[in-house]
Amino acid sequence: MILLKKDRLRTPLMADSVMTVKMTRGAPDLRRKKSNGVKLYQTTLRSELRFSGVGLHGGKPSSVILSPMSSGTGVQFQAGRVGVPALAEYVVDTKRGTTLGKGGVAIRTVEHLLSAIRGMGVDNVLIRITGEEIPAMDGSAAVFAEAISKAGLQLMRARQPKPVWELGDDESFVLTTGLSSYKVFSSKALSMGVSISFPGTPIGLQDFEWRPRASYLKEVSRARTFCLASEVPALRQLGLAKGGDLSNTIVVGAQDYQSQEPLRYRDECVRHKVLDLVGDLSLLGPGDYRFACAAFAPSHTANFRLVQELRRRLKRRV
Ligand SMILES: [Zn+2]
Repeated sequence: MILLKKDRLRTPLMADSVMTVKMTRGAPDLRRKKSNGVKLYQTTLRSELRFSGVGLHGGKPSSVILSPMSSGTGVQFQAGRVGVPALAEYVVDTKRGTTLGKGGVAIRTVEHLLSAIRGMGVDNVLIRITGEEIPAMDGSAAVFAEAISKAGLQLMRARQPKPVWELGDDESFVLTTGLSSYKVFSSKALSMGVSISFPGTPIGLQDFEWRPRASYLKEVSRARTFCLASEVPALRQLGLAKGGDLSNTIVVGAQDYQSQEPLRYRDECVRHKVLDLVGDLSLLGPGDYRFACAAFAPSHTANFRLVQELRRRLKRRV
């Protein structure tokens, strides 16, 4: 691992050894450093983090340990001896959640943890998992994001410069897949907006946009997963949501919301969709994303199609 402490840094900005990024507003704005002639810096965690709980869909106990990783390694899962990079190439299922797999190993429901990692600006991390599914915690990414915030980030001198993923000025596109659609256009900074419509429920029409300069921790991470009350029997029949209950899921009825605690945001459902989108889009790979995405009724399956389309269209430059 190359940390700033061990580097001989030539710029006054980086002269003071290891830097802790202030995390109070979510992902750090590392681009500012570039104006001083320094390349984009990658980050990792300052210390190891551990989480355990029950998987949302499998209902089985699991635990994860997040460890700092070297520059350029990205986000990697490790299940026993099998390493599974958090990249679109390793997506094996997208039914009501995103599952990564390789060599007979499957890791379910990765999106909330990946969302916290991307939303909080962590570039490199190893996630060792015991079990088959990321623990659901409270159904949001808050526990992960708060722990990352507490641990802080280590800025690393990149062995390779941090790649930039961007879309050309006149290369906007619309992707429609199933009931979901996305408009993606070029932008100097990332933004992710989502609109959802659930007529006949208290959700109604909601939209929310997140830009990394706003606080992921405060504005996005606390939004819990939700499902419609009418969907519950079908989910159970599919063998899903075995670990789901009112402590980690908002159940949306025709008239009201059922959950163990009151809504955390008035528009919590759409914010959770943004949370999912941040996690799923991180499967593009490590780097600085510079495009704007406006999604209508996104799902994990459609998010994955979008990642594949973005892989084809975005220019990755170093
Ligand atoms: Zn989710």
